[in-house]
Amino acid sequence: MSGKGKKSSGQQLKPEPEAQTNPYADTLKRLRDAFNSGRTQPAEFRVSQLRGLSRFLKENRKLLLDTLAQDLNKPTFEADISEIVLCESEIRLALKNLDAWMKDERVEKNLATQLDSAFIRKEPYGVTLIIAPWNYPLNLLLVPLVGAVAAGNCVVLKPSEMSKGMEKVIAEVLPQYLDKNCFATVLGGPEEATILLKNKFDYIFFTGSPRVGQIVMAAASKYLTPLTLELGGKNPCYVDDNCDPQNVANRVAWFRFFNAGQTCVAPDYILCSRETQEKLLPALQRAVTQFYGKDPQSSPDLARIINNKHFHRLCGLLGNGRAAIGGQSDEQERYIAPTVLVDVKETDPVMQEEIFGPILPILNVQSVEEAIAFIRKREKPLALYAFSNDSKVVNKVLDETSSGSFGGNNGFMFMTITSMPFGGIGHSGMGQYHGKFTFDTFSHLRGCILCSPRLEIINKIRYPPYSPGRQRLLVWLLEHKLGLPCSIL
Ligand code: NAD
Repeated sequence: MSGKGKKSSGQQLKPEPEAQTNPYADTLKRLRDAFNSGRTQPAEFRVSQLRGLSRFLKENRKLLLDTLAQDLNKPTFEADISEIVLCESEIRLALKNLDAWMKDERVEKNLATQLDSAFIRKEPYGVTLIIAPWNYPLNLLLVPLVGAVAAGNCVVLKPSEMSKGMEKVIAEVLPQYLDKNCFATVLGGPEEATILLKNKFDYIFFTGSPRVGQIVMAAASKYLTPLTLELGGKNPCYVDDNCDPQNVANRVAWFRFFNAGQTCVAPDYILCSRETQEKLLPALQRAVTQFYGKDPQSSPDLARIINNKHFHRLCGLLGNGRAAIGGQSDEQERYIAPTVLVDVKETDPVMQEEIFGPILPILNVQSVEEAIAFIRKREKPLALYAFSNDSKVVNKVLDETSSGSFGGNNGFMFMTITSMPFGGIGHSGMGQYHGKFTFDTFSHLRGCILCSPRLEIINKIRYPPYSPGRQRLLVWLLEHKLGLPCSIL
């Protein structure tokens, strides 16, 4: 990256506070020139960059795992499956399907356009921006990047300033695997991001909190820039009386305490009857002990809280209701024990904000109907879970609610299925990605029709002077299809 600011390494800049008002102008010009040159368009270029991403993951595997351990004490098992493996499968899928995804898509025509050629062209937007959070700092930057590259865009990457180790790797190591004219990294936090967003992008892909999502959307509106918002919120988890408490406890505990609860799609709170709560509590305690031992703090399989600010925020929430399981914390390690809270009120802070930590409150409802009413009264969540031995109950929750994704007797395994779209609705976001959906997100679908310059006789029926007979004929031609792919172009 060229420009006026402090060079942290190679292509990256962290602007000095006194730097000129737009320290990113040179970088964006370089990317725009590269895009306008058509460099990113050929499939060969896209393949070479995707292979570069694949090599980046392969050759730096240990560095990436060590960095995730350094930032979040992320267990290797969790880091591998949720960060590296998911990115690799996205790259593999894109490489395998790139030609098919890029290809013009022929569409069905009416009889009035039967001799024309009608198709959808997948166009890259241009210079795009990906802003990522810190909780899955590799996955949430690279998975959108794979689709942006596959779709032929230039990309500015803005990793989170909070996952410092990964920010450095993205700034210093990743650029070695990508074309520097087409990709750049911008470092920093809100201050730098605010300046960056004053620039015009052709697409913005933001993952983070609803609060910052609003800021990004407002900035995008200045240029009418289309955007995807992958946001967060509170994900309800209904547990029916008719269930196997130990199975439910194992599943919910794993998804809640994975990455120390710092997962946007983690079950945020349980809704169940008091009777089921009494069965779930010993089962959850058994699950926690089985997963992390008698002293979870000494377990190598439990991540830590990202920073002191979030640690103190979570400590504040530990005081809500009563900790039936866990409740301990250690500031030095930013450790919060896997915790289950009971006697929690709807009005408690733990039920007002996204928890984003290893704390699981239980709220009591008398029936599935009451649980559904509770869920429907709130913002539409990013994910919603229902556990029951009765599939009718699971389907009732599915049918009578709305959310970004849904898990029946399961947690966020839907994140691993590249053929499914992932994204929020309402307050939890807009747009979707993963697999081909990411390619589509980063592509403008251009509807095209190509017509012969000759055969004007066919067009004559459209032209004035109009007559009822011609009108009837044209309406008939517009309403009917031949069902054959015939065209003269
Ligand atoms: P955040 O919104 O604070 O920050 C996200 C990114 O935005 C960071 O790169 C940050 O530097 C940048 N940013 C901060 N202030 C900004 C500003 N004023 N203008 C522009 N950019 C700014 O979120 P976070 O704390 O990093 O992540 C946690 C949140 O992200 C949670 O709400 C979580 O649910 C959500 N999340 C959502 C998904 C998803 O896929 N939907 C995935 C992970 C996290």
